[in-house]
Amino acid sequence: MKKILLLLTFFSLLLSANNKKITLQLNWLNQFQFAGYYIAKEKGFYNDVGLDVEIKEFTSTTNLVDDIKTNKADFAVGRSSLLVERENGEDVVALGAIFQESPLMLLVRKDANINSVQDLRNKKVMITPDAVFSASLLAMLSANNLKNSDYIVQKHSFDINDLIVGKTDAMASYLSNEPIVLKDKDIDYKIFHPSDYGFHFYSDILFTSSKFIKNNPKITKDFYEASIRGWEYAFKNKTEAAELIYKKYNTQNKSYIHLIKEGEILERLAYSYNEGIGYLDKNKLENIYNVFKLFGLVKEEINIDEFIYDENPRKMMTIEISKRDQKLTMFFILSLIVVFLLIIYFLNKSRRIKELLHIVINSTDDLIFYKDNKFRYLGCNKSFEKFCGKKESEIIGKNDFDIFEKEYAQLSYEKDKEVLSKNKLLVNNEWAKIENSNILLQTKKVPFKYKKSKNEGILGISRDITELHEVYQKLKKQAYRDELTSVFNRKAYNERIEEKFDLYNRYKSKFCMAMYDIDDFKVINDTYGHDVGDKVLVEMTKEIKDNIRKTDLIFRVGGEEFVIIFPKTLIDEAYVVTEKIREAVSKMNMVNNKKITISIGITEVKDNDTPTSIYERIDKLMYVSKHSGKNQTSKD
Ligand code: GH3
Ligand code: MG
Ligand code: MG
Repeated sequence: MKKILLLLTFFSLLLSANNKKITLQLNWLNQFQFAGYYIAKEKGFYNDVGLDVEIKEFTSTTNLVDDIKTNKADFAVGRSSLLVERENGEDVVALGAIFQESPLMLLVRKDANINSVQDLRNKKVMITPDAVFSASLLAMLSANNLKNSDYIVQKHSFDINDLIVGKTDAMASYLSNEPIVLKDKDIDYKIFHPSDYGFHFYSDILFTSSKFIKNNPKITKDFYEASIRGWEYAFKNKTEAAELIYKKYNTQNKSYIHLIKEGEILERLAYSYNEGIGYLDKNKLENIYNVFKLFGLVKEEINIDEFIYDENPRKMMTIEISKRDQKLTMFFILSLIVVFLLIIYFLNKSRRIKELLHIVINSTDDLIFYKDNKFRYLGCNKSFEKFCGKKESEIIGKNDFDIFEKEYAQLSYEKDKEVLSKNKLLVNNEWAKIENSNILLQTKKVPFKYKKSKNEGILGISRDITELHEVYQKLKKQAYRDELTSVFNRKAYNERIEEKFDLYNRYKSKFCMAMYDIDDFKVINDTYGHDVGDKVLVEMTKEIKDNIRKTDLIFRVGGEEFVIIFPKTLIDEAYVVTEKIREAVSKMNMVNNKKITISIGITEVKDNDTPTSIYERIDKLMYVSKHSGKNQTSKD
């Protein structure tokens, strides 16, 4: 037996002898925080791409950026503060962010009577003096009007007992560590997390230098992808990952249960935007950079595009549109207010000013009108004339029923009445049908005195927001769609599955759920390139969509993993459909006559099922298909 073991070790050494040796430097001691890398090593994901990875634990002499610069390490795990290093002229490039939300937060004891961040005024706060490291916490404090001098900064002891015995009131801690310790000791606590105050920081950014990427493009890509694969596996198999750390990497002597709990919390942080592990968002990085700027940690602008690794597959630009859109909306609201104030101001002024007012109101695209207390038009601007297709002289004296379609006129009339009865400004959006096209108008109406008498009429200003509305609708849709394949994304899945369970629990409305994953997809990517891989994903999704009913829902829940929900369907019926899909895919010719197949797991919802239990079941079934030769469907 010993001989066989020796022989096996010898062969595996021989096999890995050709592997390229590379080093990954961690930014802390071994714990679940790095599970994906241990798994990638243990499961042979690195080995699969010809890499022999040495994982180095953090020591007191580690300097992450220096280690990359001096080739002591090829890759390292860093924090959002890499942006500051980059501005300092260091050659650092972010491959991907493992945790979409940083675990760093302020922890207080529940019995300390600190109910909000403001309650930390004059309290003792243990925070590292390194502003770069603590930027998200400082930003949270300062957003709550607490300057540095408003609380007592204590040197961080990294000893949770100091919080327990009251040596400090608040301690900078990790969501995935200290709360678990307190829970074990039955001590209640409260958390102030910067993300709850709008400060979203990445954590554990895998990075290297642009020089390294240039000289080793394949190694970089392979290492990155194998690491992400390791992470996906680690989160899907938390107990296995925890066991590995417990047995092989437990330099901190953590308990097995602690490691599992740590994994559960980190999983939430890793997937907190449903974007998949590694996702880097340019806009978010810019926001983080702006926080650093606010604290004077950086001065110059940096090129965020150059900071992000080109191959980061999940880098998307949709947020940029929404940022532009936010600006547009802000501009829209502000200009509306300015015009509105101008009108009110000018309306109450002398004749000369009235002339000026005339110019102002006629030069805007907004529709401006004023009505008497019986809601008959007293006047309007040029834009309103154009909108109605009538001259002001034809409009004066008429009401909305004389000018617009009945439905819109009725709505407008109700609003006019409400403005006068409540005697305040009202804003509402209304669809108007003008010359057979539907236009969305945002209208503000306010009571105004049009004569010296007590009579109060209505002053209104409307803006055509049809286009803006369309942009919003598009963005809203986009948020639930996968960019590449146009099917629903994971965010949509999370919402729809809850809905399906609601229906099931209320009306026992049965449904089936299938998961499929492309077989040996890595080979396609590796042989023909990522672009061809993308094309396969698009074409295959189209084919599958053609083979399911309109009411069936398809979601891209991972890179090449998809879920289909078959509403109001029993397993035998759904099984026939998945078999049809599987065969249709295997007959497609997407790349050079190469047969591409999928493995499927399918099940029917059962009593006591939850979104998690059904997902885990189809995932397991899908793996049963993988392990029994792929290109199969396993059902339960
Ligand atoms: P298996 O049969 O066990 O599923 O083997 P596999 O090679 O398909 O392995 P796995 O499912 O773990 O690998 C998924 C691969 O899919 C890894 C990743 O490079 C690739 N991938 C994920 N997302 C995308 C994408 O958006 N485009 C492309 N081209 N490839 C992707
Ligand atoms: Mg696959
Ligand atoms: Mg997969």
